[in-house]
Amino acid sequence: MNLIIFGPPGAGKGTQSNNLINNFDLKQVSTGNLLRSEIKIQTDLGKKIESIINNGELVSDDVVNTLIRKIISDPKNFNRLIFDGYPRTISQVYSLEKLLKEFNQKISIVFNLNVDKDIVSKRVNGRVICTRCFRIFNVYLNPPNSKNHKCEKKYLEKRTDDNSKTILNRYGTYVAKTKPILDYYSKKGLLLEIDGNQKIAEIYGKIKGILENIRDWHYVYFLYKFPLKNLTSLIYGPYSRYQYPSK
Ligand SMILES: [Zn+2]
Repeated sequence: MNLIIFGPPGAGKGTQSNNLINNFDLKQVSTGNLLRSEIKIQTDLGKKIESIINNGELVSDDVVNTLIRKIISDPKNFNRLIFDGYPRTISQVYSLEKLLKEFNQKISIVFNLNVDKDIVSKRVNGRVICTRCFRIFNVYLNPPNSKNHKCEKKYLEKRTDDNSKTILNRYGTYVAKTKPILDYYSKKGLLLEIDGNQKIAEIYGKIKGILENIRDWHYVYFLYKFPLKNLTSLIYGPYSRYQYPSK
């Protein structure tokens, strides 16, 4: 199953997708990471991207699509992608659809983590990190105390990269820009709104439950459709490497 996860800055999207990657054997696709790793391996495209970024210009959709194509076309990634921070525009939505179709895949579900602005603000402003053990806490939502943290208080520092004003601005921009994309997936019946105001573990519990259901249904359908392949599917895992009929 391929999925997309949306959520404004401060919604905890990173944490949720990390949990999903580990528990569902998914491969994360984030444009930022793709660009960085292409630059790192210094392919021709990587060099081109590096000079675009160094010139302060935006990387074009064409370049992004080329990178996404590489990932989707790789058999290792078949039906196990989680798109994070992509697609960002409607035109990227269309090219993603086209690419998935070309490689006999589709999006199974789109999650949107909804979170109120004041919760974002608490999450962002309350974040503290221990400079000794590197654990992260939140003075409002998950305060460090004698039970959950053994280091002295003096090691706790407010995280400096979280400039609250910037994040709240980004929140506004994000909501406006993402709306047409969410509308698109909503019309297709793929969008699932998740209440992102709850605790991270509760949110994850919900998402996990939904995905397990989808996976089970895929599996049941798969066994029904291709009974002879049962053995291979049992050996290699219930669903992820296989192609499901799209309808
Ligand atoms: Zn500590």
